[in-house]
Amino acid sequence: PYSIRAYDIDPKALKITKTDKPKTLGKPEDLEFGKTFTDHMLTIEWSKAGGWAAPEITPYHNLSLDPATCVFHYAFECFEGLKAYKDSKGNIRLFRPDKNMIRFNKSASRIALPTFTGYNLISLISKFVKLEADMIPDRRGYSLYLRPTMIGTQKTIGVGPPGSALLYVIASPVGPYYPTGFKAVSLEATDYAVRAWPGGVGDKKLGANYAPCINPQLEAASRGYQQNLWLFGEEEYVTEVGTMNMFTVIQDAKTGQKELVTAPLDGTILDGVTRDSVLSLAREKLIPEGWKVSERKYTMPELWQASKEGRLLEAFGSGTAAVVSPVRNIGWRGNVVNCGLAEDQESGEIARKMKEWIEARQYGDEEHEWSYVV
Ligand code: PMP
Repeated sequence: PYSIRAYDIDPKALKITKTDKPKTLGKPEDLEFGKTFTDHMLTIEWSKAGGWAAPEITPYHNLSLDPATCVFHYAFECFEGLKAYKDSKGNIRLFRPDKNMIRFNKSASRIALPTFTGYNLISLISKFVKLEADMIPDRRGYSLYLRPTMIGTQKTIGVGPPGSALLYVIASPVGPYYPTGFKAVSLEATDYAVRAWPGGVGDKKLGANYAPCINPQLEAASRGYQQNLWLFGEEEYVTEVGTMNMFTVIQDAKTGQKELVTAPLDGTILDGVTRDSVLSLAREKLIPEGWKVSERKYTMPELWQASKEGRLLEAFGSGTAAVVSPVRNIGWRGNVVNCGLAEDQESGEIARKMKEWIEARQYGDEEHEWSYVV
Protein backbone atom coordinates (compact mmCIF):
# COMPACT_ATOMS: atom_id res chain seq x y z
CA PRO A 1 0.00 0.00 0.00
CA TYR A 2 1.03 3.61 -0.70
CA SER A 3 2.74 5.21 2.25
CA ILE A 4 3.78 8.87 2.46
CA ARG A 5 6.66 7.80 4.66
CA ALA A 6 8.26 5.77 1.94
CA TYR A 7 7.92 8.26 -0.92
CA ASP A 8 8.08 11.74 0.56
CA ILE A 9 10.16 13.33 3.27
CA ASP A 10 8.36 12.84 6.59
CA PRO A 11 9.22 15.52 9.18
CA LYS A 12 7.38 13.59 11.91
CA ALA A 13 9.88 10.71 11.62
CA LEU A 14 12.83 12.97 12.61
CA LYS A 15 15.38 11.42 14.99
CA ILE A 16 17.66 13.78 16.92
CA THR A 17 21.04 12.91 18.41
CA LYS A 18 22.68 15.91 20.05
CA THR A 19 26.40 16.52 20.36
CA ASP A 20 27.97 16.08 23.78
CA LYS A 21 30.65 18.68 22.93
CA PRO A 22 28.72 21.87 22.10
CA LYS A 23 30.67 24.78 20.58
CA THR A 24 30.09 28.41 21.45
CA LEU A 25 29.70 31.12 18.85
CA GLY A 26 32.66 33.29 19.83
CA LYS A 27 33.01 36.85 18.57
CA PRO A 28 30.65 37.43 15.64
CA GLU A 29 33.07 40.03 14.18
CA ASP A 30 35.63 37.26 13.61
CA LEU A 31 33.34 35.13 11.43
CA GLU A 32 34.66 34.45 7.95
CA PHE A 33 32.08 33.47 5.35
CA GLY A 34 31.62 29.71 5.12
CA LYS A 35 34.45 28.74 7.47
CA THR A 36 32.58 28.04 10.74
CA PHE A 37 29.87 25.40 11.01
CA THR A 38 27.36 24.60 13.73
CA ASP A 39 27.45 21.44 15.87
CA HIS A 40 24.82 19.48 13.96
CA MET A 41 23.67 18.54 10.50
CA LEU A 42 20.38 17.35 9.06
CA THR A 43 20.53 14.27 6.80
CA ILE A 44 17.89 12.36 4.84
CA GLU A 45 18.77 9.32 2.78
CA TRP A 46 16.83 8.30 -0.28
CA SER A 47 16.75 5.04 -2.21
CA LYS A 48 14.85 4.07 -5.30
CA ALA A 49 13.33 1.09 -3.55
CA GLY A 50 12.41 2.73 -0.24
CA GLY A 51 11.97 6.43 -1.04
CA TRP A 52 12.97 8.96 1.64
CA ALA A 53 14.14 7.41 4.92
CA ALA A 54 13.56 8.93 8.37
CA PRO A 55 15.32 12.33 8.65
CA GLU A 56 18.07 12.64 11.24
CA ILE A 57 19.77 15.48 13.05
CA THR A 58 23.16 14.27 14.24
CA PRO A 59 26.44 15.80 15.35
CA TYR A 60 28.26 17.34 12.35
CA HIS A 61 30.37 14.58 10.83
CA ASN A 62 32.42 13.52 7.82
CA LEU A 63 30.72 11.54 5.10
CA SER A 64 32.15 8.18 4.16
CA LEU A 65 31.64 7.34 0.49
CA ASP A 66 33.09 4.69 -1.79
CA PRO A 67 35.48 6.19 -4.38
CA ALA A 68 33.19 4.83 -7.11
CA THR A 69 30.20 6.85 -5.80
CA CYS A 70 28.53 8.54 -8.76
CA VAL A 71 28.73 12.09 -7.33
CA PHE A 72 32.53 12.02 -7.68
CA HIS A 73 32.42 11.04 -11.34
CA TYR A 74 29.40 12.62 -12.96
CA ALA A 75 28.61 15.56 -10.66
CA PHE A 76 25.25 14.46 -9.32
CA GLU A 77 25.14 17.42 -6.96
CA CYS A 78 22.87 20.39 -6.46
CA PHE A 79 22.50 22.83 -3.61
CA GLU A 80 20.68 25.83 -2.18
CA GLY A 81 21.63 28.87 -0.13
CA LEU A 82 19.33 30.67 2.30
CA LYS A 83 19.64 32.31 5.69
CA ALA A 84 18.02 32.17 9.12
CA TYR A 85 17.77 35.54 10.89
CA LYS A 86 17.13 36.37 14.53
CA ASP A 87 14.72 39.25 15.06
CA SER A 88 14.68 41.78 17.88
CA LYS A 89 12.36 39.54 19.93
CA GLY A 90 14.60 36.50 19.52
CA ASN A 91 12.36 34.76 16.95
CA ILE A 92 14.14 32.88 14.18
CA ARG A 93 13.01 33.69 10.66
CA LEU A 94 13.69 32.17 7.24
CA PHE A 95 13.38 34.41 4.17
CA ARG A 96 11.14 33.06 1.39
CA PRO A 97 12.27 29.43 1.94
CA ASP A 98 9.46 28.23 -0.36
CA LYS A 99 11.35 29.78 -3.30
CA ASN A 100 14.51 27.88 -2.38
CA MET A 101 12.56 24.62 -2.15
CA ILE A 102 11.04 25.09 -5.61
CA ARG A 103 14.49 25.81 -7.06
CA PHE A 104 16.08 22.87 -5.18
CA ASN A 105 13.49 20.48 -6.61
CA LYS A 106 14.00 21.85 -10.14
CA SER A 107 17.77 21.42 -9.82
CA ALA A 108 17.45 17.90 -8.41
CA SER A 109 15.02 16.70 -11.04
CA ARG A 110 17.25 18.03 -13.86
CA ILE A 111 20.09 15.72 -12.74
CA ALA A 112 17.90 12.66 -12.04
CA LEU A 113 17.95 13.10 -8.25
CA PRO A 114 14.75 12.64 -6.21
CA THR A 115 12.26 15.41 -5.41
CA PHE A 116 10.15 16.00 -2.31
CA THR A 117 7.43 18.25 -0.91
CA GLY A 118 9.16 21.56 -0.18
CA TYR A 119 7.18 22.30 2.95
CA ASN A 120 8.39 19.07 4.57
CA LEU A 121 12.02 20.15 4.27
CA ILE A 122 11.16 23.67 5.51
CA SER A 123 9.60 22.04 8.55
CA LEU A 124 12.79 20.03 9.21
CA ILE A 125 15.05 23.03 8.60
CA SER A 126 12.92 24.92 11.14
CA LYS A 127 13.63 22.25 13.76
CA PHE A 128 17.31 22.26 12.83
CA VAL A 129 17.73 26.04 13.16
CA LYS A 130 15.85 26.05 16.48
CA LEU A 131 18.32 23.49 17.77
CA GLU A 132 21.17 25.75 16.59
CA ALA A 133 19.55 28.94 17.95
CA ASP A 134 22.62 29.81 20.05
CA MET A 135 24.74 29.82 16.90
CA ILE A 136 22.65 32.52 15.19
CA PRO A 137 24.21 35.91 15.89
CA ASP A 138 21.43 38.34 16.78
CA ARG A 139 22.97 41.50 15.37
CA ARG A 140 21.74 43.30 12.29
CA GLY A 141 23.63 42.08 9.24
CA TYR A 142 24.42 38.71 10.87
CA SER A 143 22.64 35.43 10.19
CA LEU A 144 22.95 31.67 9.90
CA TYR A 145 23.70 30.65 6.31
CA LEU A 146 22.03 27.34 5.42
CA ARG A 147 23.34 25.04 2.75
CA PRO A 148 20.90 22.31 1.69
CA THR A 149 22.79 19.90 -0.58
CA MET A 150 21.79 16.77 -2.49
CA ILE A 151 24.20 14.19 -3.91
CA GLY A 152 23.88 10.91 -5.79
CA THR A 153 25.38 8.20 -3.58
CA GLN A 154 25.09 5.09 -5.71
CA LYS A 155 28.34 3.16 -5.97
CA THR A 156 28.82 2.79 -9.70
CA ILE A 157 30.88 4.24 -12.50
CA GLY A 158 28.18 3.26 -14.94
CA VAL A 159 26.44 6.36 -16.30
CA GLY A 160 22.81 6.31 -15.26
CA PRO A 161 20.26 7.64 -12.79
CA PRO A 162 21.47 7.28 -9.18
CA GLY A 163 19.56 4.58 -7.27
CA SER A 164 20.38 6.28 -3.99
CA ALA A 165 20.92 9.84 -2.79
CA LEU A 166 21.65 11.86 0.30
CA LEU A 167 20.07 15.20 1.15
CA TYR A 168 21.84 17.10 3.90
CA VAL A 169 21.76 20.57 5.41
CA ILE A 170 24.71 22.24 7.11
CA ALA A 171 24.74 25.69 8.68
CA SER A 172 27.33 28.43 8.99
CA PRO A 173 27.02 31.57 11.13
CA VAL A 174 27.93 34.58 8.96
CA GLY A 175 28.53 38.28 9.34
CA PRO A 176 27.65 41.19 7.07
CA TYR A 177 29.14 40.92 3.59
CA TYR A 178 30.37 44.51 3.87
CA PRO A 179 31.28 44.94 7.57
CA THR A 180 32.20 48.60 7.12
CA GLY A 181 29.27 49.51 4.88
CA PHE A 182 28.87 49.13 1.11
CA LYS A 183 31.98 48.77 -0.98
CA ALA A 184 31.27 49.10 -4.69
CA VAL A 185 32.82 46.36 -6.85
CA SER A 186 34.32 46.29 -10.33
CA LEU A 187 33.21 43.63 -12.81
CA GLU A 188 34.96 42.26 -15.87
CA ALA A 189 32.60 41.65 -18.78
CA THR A 190 33.54 38.13 -19.84
CA ASP A 191 33.10 37.01 -23.44
CA TYR A 192 35.93 34.49 -23.93
CA ALA A 193 34.17 31.94 -21.69
CA VAL A 194 30.43 31.22 -21.46
CA ARG A 195 28.70 30.34 -18.17
CA ALA A 196 25.34 29.24 -19.55
CA TRP A 197 23.51 28.86 -22.85
CA PRO A 198 19.93 28.35 -24.08
CA GLY A 199 18.81 24.81 -23.32
CA GLY A 200 21.65 24.39 -20.82
CA VAL A 201 21.54 24.22 -17.03
CA GLY A 202 22.55 27.77 -16.07
CA ASP A 203 19.18 28.28 -14.38
CA LYS A 204 19.78 25.31 -12.05
CA LYS A 205 21.90 25.43 -8.91
CA LEU A 206 24.26 22.60 -9.84
CA GLY A 207 27.76 22.41 -8.38
CA ALA A 208 28.95 21.68 -11.92
CA ASN A 209 28.00 25.24 -12.95
CA TYR A 210 30.44 26.79 -10.49
CA ALA A 211 33.80 24.99 -10.82
CA PRO A 212 34.30 26.06 -14.48
CA CYS A 213 33.83 29.72 -13.48
CA ILE A 214 36.81 29.83 -11.12
CA ASN A 215 39.54 30.22 -13.74
CA PRO A 216 37.76 33.15 -15.43
CA GLN A 217 37.29 34.63 -11.95
CA LEU A 218 41.03 34.34 -11.30
CA GLU A 219 41.74 35.95 -14.66
CA ALA A 220 39.41 38.84 -13.86
CA ALA A 221 41.05 39.19 -10.44
CA SER A 222 44.51 39.33 -12.04
CA ARG A 223 43.30 42.45 -13.90
CA GLY A 224 41.83 44.02 -10.76
CA TYR A 225 38.18 42.97 -11.08
CA GLN A 226 36.30 41.26 -8.24
CA GLN A 227 33.82 39.27 -10.33
CA ASN A 228 32.90 38.27 -13.86
CA LEU A 229 29.92 39.77 -15.62
CA TRP A 230 28.84 36.96 -17.91
CA LEU A 231 27.93 38.03 -21.45
CA PHE A 232 26.14 35.91 -23.99
CA GLY A 233 26.19 35.83 -27.78
CA GLU A 234 27.40 38.18 -30.52
CA GLU A 235 25.02 40.86 -29.24
CA GLU A 236 26.89 40.70 -25.92
CA TYR A 237 23.79 40.35 -23.80
CA VAL A 238 24.38 41.04 -20.11
CA THR A 239 23.26 37.97 -18.13
CA GLU A 240 24.43 37.77 -14.50
CA VAL A 241 27.44 38.07 -12.19
CA GLY A 242 29.44 35.19 -10.60
CA THR A 243 26.98 34.49 -7.78
CA MET A 244 24.57 37.39 -8.21
CA ASN A 245 21.88 38.58 -10.58
CA MET A 246 22.56 41.93 -12.25
CA PHE A 247 20.45 45.11 -12.16
CA THR A 248 21.03 48.43 -13.92
CA VAL A 249 19.27 51.77 -13.78
CA ILE A 250 19.10 53.38 -17.22
CA GLN A 251 17.57 56.71 -18.14
CA ASP A 252 15.90 57.06 -21.53
CA ALA A 253 17.73 59.47 -23.89
CA LYS A 254 14.55 61.14 -25.17
CA THR A 255 12.02 61.00 -22.35
CA GLY A 256 14.30 60.91 -19.31
CA GLN A 257 12.25 57.95 -18.02
CA LYS A 258 14.16 55.98 -15.37
CA GLU A 259 14.14 52.22 -15.86
CA LEU A 260 15.31 49.43 -13.54
CA VAL A 261 16.47 46.67 -15.86
CA THR A 262 17.45 43.04 -15.31
CA ALA A 263 17.87 40.11 -17.71
CA PRO A 264 14.81 37.88 -18.21
CA LEU A 265 14.51 34.31 -16.92
CA ASP A 266 15.28 32.72 -20.29
CA GLY A 267 17.10 29.69 -18.89
CA THR A 268 20.57 31.27 -18.94
CA ILE A 269 20.46 32.90 -15.50
CA LEU A 270 19.57 31.71 -12.02
CA ASP A 271 16.10 32.60 -10.76
CA GLY A 272 17.47 34.45 -7.74
CA VAL A 273 15.28 34.83 -4.66
CA THR A 274 16.84 38.27 -4.11
CA ARG A 275 16.26 39.16 -7.79
CA ASP A 276 12.58 38.31 -7.41
CA SER A 277 12.42 40.34 -4.18
CA VAL A 278 14.06 43.37 -5.83
CA LEU A 279 11.60 43.18 -8.74
CA SER A 280 8.59 42.86 -6.42
CA LEU A 281 9.73 45.79 -4.29
CA ALA A 282 10.42 47.87 -7.40
CA ARG A 283 6.90 47.16 -8.68
CA GLU A 284 5.44 47.95 -5.26
CA LYS A 285 7.42 51.10 -4.46
CA LEU A 286 9.09 52.51 -7.60
CA ILE A 287 6.38 52.12 -10.25
CA PRO A 288 3.97 54.36 -8.28
CA GLU A 289 6.75 56.99 -8.38
CA GLY A 290 6.80 56.84 -12.18
CA TRP A 291 9.56 54.28 -12.70
CA LYS A 292 9.67 51.63 -15.39
CA VAL A 293 10.68 48.12 -14.24
CA SER A 294 11.83 45.72 -16.95
CA GLU A 295 12.87 42.11 -17.26
CA ARG A 296 14.35 42.37 -20.72
CA LYS A 297 17.44 41.58 -22.71
CA TYR A 298 20.05 44.33 -22.73
CA THR A 299 23.55 44.49 -24.10
CA MET A 300 26.99 45.81 -23.21
CA PRO A 301 26.92 48.28 -26.14
CA GLU A 302 23.62 49.65 -24.71
CA LEU A 303 25.23 50.11 -21.28
CA TRP A 304 28.36 51.66 -22.82
CA GLN A 305 26.28 54.18 -24.80
CA ALA A 306 24.15 55.04 -21.74
CA SER A 307 27.28 55.43 -19.62
CA LYS A 308 28.94 57.79 -22.12
CA GLU A 309 25.80 59.93 -22.16
CA GLY A 310 25.50 59.96 -18.37
CA ARG A 311 22.32 57.86 -18.50
CA LEU A 312 23.66 54.77 -16.72
CA LEU A 313 22.68 55.92 -13.25
CA GLU A 314 23.40 52.83 -11.22
CA ALA A 315 24.26 49.12 -11.33
CA PHE A 316 24.16 46.48 -8.62
CA GLY A 317 24.23 42.73 -8.11
CA SER A 318 21.64 40.88 -6.00
CA GLY A 319 22.07 37.66 -4.01
CA THR A 320 21.56 36.02 -0.65
CA ALA A 321 25.12 36.64 0.57
CA ALA A 322 25.30 40.44 0.17
CA VAL A 323 21.61 41.26 -0.50
CA VAL A 324 22.78 43.92 -2.96
CA SER A 325 26.29 44.76 -4.11
CA PRO A 326 26.79 48.12 -5.84
CA VAL A 327 28.91 48.12 -9.03
CA ARG A 328 31.37 50.95 -9.67
CA ASN A 329 32.43 50.02 -13.18
CA ILE A 330 32.60 47.28 -15.79
CA GLY A 331 35.75 46.48 -17.74
CA TRP A 332 34.73 45.76 -21.33
CA ARG A 333 36.87 45.56 -24.49
CA GLY A 334 39.55 47.75 -22.99
CA ASN A 335 37.00 50.37 -21.86
CA VAL A 336 35.96 51.17 -18.34
CA VAL A 337 32.18 51.54 -18.31
CA ASN A 338 31.34 53.86 -15.43
CA CYS A 339 28.16 52.84 -13.62
CA GLY A 340 27.15 56.23 -12.28
CA LEU A 341 28.83 56.43 -8.86
CA ALA A 342 30.81 59.50 -7.88
CA GLU A 343 34.37 58.71 -6.74
CA ASP A 344 33.51 59.11 -3.06
CA GLN A 345 30.25 57.17 -3.36
CA GLU A 346 29.96 53.44 -2.62
CA SER A 347 26.32 52.92 -3.54
CA GLY A 348 23.54 54.38 -5.62
CA GLU A 349 20.16 55.28 -4.19
CA ILE A 350 18.22 52.27 -5.45
CA ALA A 351 20.77 49.72 -4.22
CA ARG A 352 20.73 51.36 -0.79
CA LYS A 353 16.94 51.46 -0.62
CA MET A 354 16.60 47.86 -1.81
CA LYS A 355 18.97 46.65 0.91
CA GLU A 356 16.97 48.54 3.55
CA TRP A 357 13.62 47.31 2.27
CA ILE A 358 14.73 43.68 1.98
CA GLU A 359 16.51 43.59 5.34
CA ALA A 360 13.46 45.09 7.05
CA ARG A 361 11.52 42.02 5.92
CA GLN A 362 14.34 39.54 6.59
CA TYR A 363 14.81 40.72 10.19
CA GLY A 364 11.08 41.09 10.81
CA ASP A 365 11.17 44.87 11.38
CA GLU A 366 8.41 44.89 8.79
CA GLU A 367 6.03 41.96 9.24
CA HIS A 368 5.61 40.43 5.77
CA GLU A 369 4.61 37.09 4.23
CA TRP A 370 8.18 36.68 2.88
CA SER A 371 9.42 36.16 6.40
CA TYR A 372 8.74 32.70 7.82
CA VAL A 373 8.90 32.49 11.62
CA VAL A 374 10.09 28.98 12.52
N1 PMP B 1 23.19 33.79 -9.71
C1 PMP B 1 24.00 32.80 -9.34
C2 PMP B 1 24.81 32.11 -10.38
C3 PMP B 1 24.07 32.43 -7.97
O1 PMP B 1 24.89 31.44 -7.58
C4 PMP B 1 23.27 33.11 -7.03
C5 PMP B 1 23.34 32.74 -5.58
N2 PMP B 1 22.38 31.74 -5.26
C6 PMP B 1 22.43 34.13 -7.48
C7 PMP B 1 22.41 34.46 -8.84
C8 PMP B 1 21.53 34.87 -6.53
O2 PMP B 1 20.48 34.04 -6.12
P1 PMP B 1 19.76 34.28 -4.70
O3 PMP B 1 19.23 35.67 -4.73
O4 PMP B 1 18.69 33.25 -4.66
O5 PMP B 1 20.80 34.09 -3.66
